Amino acid sequence: SFIPPVRGANGASAGAAGGAVSMPRGPSGNSTAAEESTRKCMEMLAGPDGELPDRLKNLEPRLLEHVSNEIMDQDPNVRWDDIAGLEHAKKCVTEMVIWPLLRPDIFQGCRAPGKGLLLFGPPGTGKTMIGKAIAGEAKATFFSISASSLTSKWIGEGEKLVRALFGVASCRQPAVIFIDEIDSLLSQRKSEGEHESSRRLKTQFLIEMEGCGSGTEQILLIGATNRPQELDEAARRRLSKRLYIPLPSHEARAWIIRSLLIRDGLLSLSDEDVDSICTTTDGYSGSDMKNLVKEASMGPLRELLMQGKDISSISQSDMRPITLQDFTSALQQVRPSVSPNELGMYEDWNRQFGSLA
Ligand code: ADP
Repeated sequence: SFIPPVRGANGASAGAAGGAVSMPRGPSGNSTAAEESTRKCMEMLAGPDGELPDRLKNLEPRLLEHVSNEIMDQDPNVRWDDIAGLEHAKKCVTEMVIWPLLRPDIFQGCRAPGKGLLLFGPPGTGKTMIGKAIAGEAKATFFSISASSLTSKWIGEGEKLVRALFGVASCRQPAVIFIDEIDSLLSQRKSEGEHESSRRLKTQFLIEMEGCGSGTEQILLIGATNRPQELDEAARRRLSKRLYIPLPSHEARAWIIRSLLIRDGLLSLSDEDVDSICTTTDGYSGSDMKNLVKEASMGPLRELLMQGKDISSISQSDMRPITLQDFTSALQQVRPSVSPNELGMYEDWNRQFGSLA
């Protein structure tokens, strides 16, 4: 039974999801793959009565589908133990975020959690990993989107997509919504001739954020940024917990090297070797360390190829173990991506606005 598109109260027109979950069939009477996927998505979002919840009724199915298929991550697949260092951040997040999501009955009134969490710091330090781990540890549905895609890829439609995002999240509670590069959405900088649509997007986002922590909604918003200084007062107020995610310590860097090599069965370095690599990688981010290990692990292979071996006939056992020298050479190629200058900026902002400064 095909319910024709209805014009909703807010003016949403053709293609609105209407109320019912049943979808049109293809000309042959059989549904196409695309229709099948839309039907599945609508089914997932429907309440026990088979109807879409009110706040989703006037949203276009293709937006709901995009949120369900692309933004929602069924299996974030990161645990606390996968993240090196950041003990303090993990402890705070557990208390501020995970416990309240697991036990909303205890965390109310005075114990009510903050509305939003901001993770700030240099790129490649594990902010996205923390977001995923929170969803995993709190048994919550994880939604992840980069704010710049809302402003660039979804030009003119960002506002509707934000409504769909928070709407779908409210059907899949408890939920964690992770917004990367949140500064590009909530920037204090009024770009010259800021478009009407981007102003509406920002307004809609702030409205949804207000609703997030209120009442019985169990939706946590996490914003991540490398440019916290771009956030204005209103954004800071809404992201009431602000955690600095710094560069990895010496020990955390050692942990990253070891765990990547152990994972691949390639750990042949002594403790002293690892220690000496860590001494020379002060200022490297977690993601820089990953790139360094990648580069170093190419050493044995490159050597064989230089000796004239053919790539198609090389076997794993032909390759010598990775050595400290491979890392020394890799250090020439992989440089730290964050400058000391930038670090000072994060530390200043942390002292001024951070939750744990
Ligand atoms: P961010 O969101 O802070 O820019 P990510 O969380 O996306 O950084 O990290 C990028 C990659 O760098 C991760 O997939 C991981 O391989 C590595 N990495 C960064 N920080 C850590 C960390 N603390 N522990 C383990 N791996 C890390």
